[in-house]
Amino acid sequence: MTRVLSEVQTHHCPAELIERRDVSANLATFRFRIAERPAFTAGQYATISIAVDGDVVERPYSIVSSPHEPFLEFFIELVPGGNITPKLWELKLGSTILVRRRIVGQFILDTSVTHHLMLATVTGVAPFVSILRTQQIEREREATPNDHFVVIHGASHSADLGPYRNELDALSHAGWLTYIPTVSRPWAEPSWKGETGRIEDIMRKHADRLGFDHSNSAAYACGHPQMVANVKEILARARFRKDQIKEENYFRLDAPDQ
Ligand SMILES: Cc1cc2nc3c(=O)[nH]c(=O)nc-3n(C[C@H](O)[C@H](O)[C@H](O)COP(=O)(O)OP(=O)(O)OC[C@H]3O[C@@H](n4cnc5c(N)ncnc54)[C@H](O)[C@@H]3O)c2cc1C
Repeated sequence: MTRVLSEVQTHHCPAELIERRDVSANLATFRFRIAERPAFTAGQYATISIAVDGDVVERPYSIVSSPHEPFLEFFIELVPGGNITPKLWELKLGSTILVRRRIVGQFILDTSVTHHLMLATVTGVAPFVSILRTQQIEREREATPNDHFVVIHGASHSADLGPYRNELDALSHAGWLTYIPTVSRPWAEPSWKGETGRIEDIMRKHADRLGFDHSNSAAYACGHPQMVANVKEILARARFRKDQIKEENYFRLDAPDQ
């Protein structure tokens, strides 16, 4: 345990919860202030550590905030019976957790193309928000090329899209982003006027309509592993090469207790 504690002190830094927004009973956004905020690239994930029964348990979380922002923001789903998320749900403003100093991940913008097709289930929108906030900030500074983005963001119900639905909708007015929220259970909300169906049901039609194809685009799929597997097959049939598709699976379908 002493070894574990000294390792924790060397490799982690404390982060204080400064804002929490409950989107639903099992979805929330968290903002942390971190004394020495580590450097990272938009799209990467941080490793959050929490003490559980005397042990340190760690899980990766995609960062929602831009590297240009002074806080770390996350969009997290509560997994009932999970190791870490029930502990995160107990956090109150002022509570602290530990974050690994080294922020990693390859789910970052492919700068070899001009068009980016981004596909996310619920919390899987996190790395895309980070990338798009960064684009917005850098465009204001005229420091970024004029790339084009499509985000297709799927959830069972529109409420589960969180505050990012309004944020990305607002960003899309500038013209370089098309944001398509889609709900897969529209019968549960008759007032929903937007796109309906799963991401895999609608992505091809929108990609074709907007001119995002294998000749000019990279595709990125993030969140539920079944969506990721399904869109990879659809993209392969649309002649996307493996190296044109990036994926971030938030959990494994074949995990022992699934
Ligand atoms: C690179 C990366 C980035 C991630 N970013 C995010 C993020 O931004 N937001 C976020 O909410 N999660 C994210 N995750 C998932 C996160 O790391 C945890 O796995 C998740 O929060 C569950 O942790 P837990 O300790 O509560 O549950 P665990 O004790 O790890 O899991 C309990 C069981 O639930 C399963 N499970 C885990 N997550 C889910 C889920 N979402 N739905 C259904 N079953 C699940 C596990 O496979 C396991 O069988 C990310 C995962 C990876 C690999």
